[in-house]
Amino acid sequence: MNLVLLGSPGSGKGTQARAISTKLNLVHFSPGDTFWAEMGKKTPLGQEVGDYVSQGRLVPDSLIIRILKEKFSAEKRGLLLDGFPRTMEQVEELDKWLASRSAAVDAVVYLNLPEAEAIKRLEGRRVCPGCGMVYNLVTSKPLLENVCDKCSGPISARADDSANIVKQRIMVYRDQTEPLISHYRSDTEFIEIKATQPLQAITAQILARLKL
Ligand code: ADP
Ligand code: ZN
Repeated sequence: MNLVLLGSPGSGKGTQARAISTKLNLVHFSPGDTFWAEMGKKTPLGQEVGDYVSQGRLVPDSLIIRILKEKFSAEKRGLLLDGFPRTMEQVEELDKWLASRSAAVDAVVYLNLPEAEAIKRLEGRRVCPGCGMVYNLVTSKPLLENVCDKCSGPISARADDSANIVKQRIMVYRDQTEPLISHYRSDTEFIEIKATQPLQAITAQILARLKL
């Protein structure tokens, strides 16, 4: 099974992807996570994408497709695609690549979050660079201010979660990614979930509604 997770920045795709990929034995692909990791290690790829990511713009489609092929051409398990595809061009390239493997997008899970809520969440998000834990000053604060519960390291805001970059990311989402909703709604198993619900309730609904 190949599953696409769709939703605006801040809709909780990453959190849900981590929860369901282990349950369903799917390989989790998040271009965003890949880029942040490469930027942290200052690799050539990290340097190539750094400006796009920190300014809240999409990296070029060709680069995303190249990474997809490099990472997963030898992969036999199904994929859980989180934050990909984000443009109609990426949809087409993904379909072509899957077809060449006699596969397809089998289901799309859309986490629907009102825009105002997305902005509030992104601006309150804090991450632990040490272990990757994600916190939110509104919904899931760490026990001690600015300290990670899990590894006791310092937590901080992601560079692209500042107010003006958040606005930019939401605009890009509206222009480039929202059209994917009606595309997938019309011809794929399409599961829409209210992203304002508690995390565990969302995970349970996704698992319950997927025809496994
Ligand atoms: P979010 O979904 O909250 O915006 P991500 O961590 O998924 O955050 O992505 C961070 C950044 O990585 C994006 O703002 C964009 O620059 C880049 N990126 C991620 N996925 C894609 C994609 N499919 N196509 C182009 N750029 C992407
Ligand atoms: Zn930590």
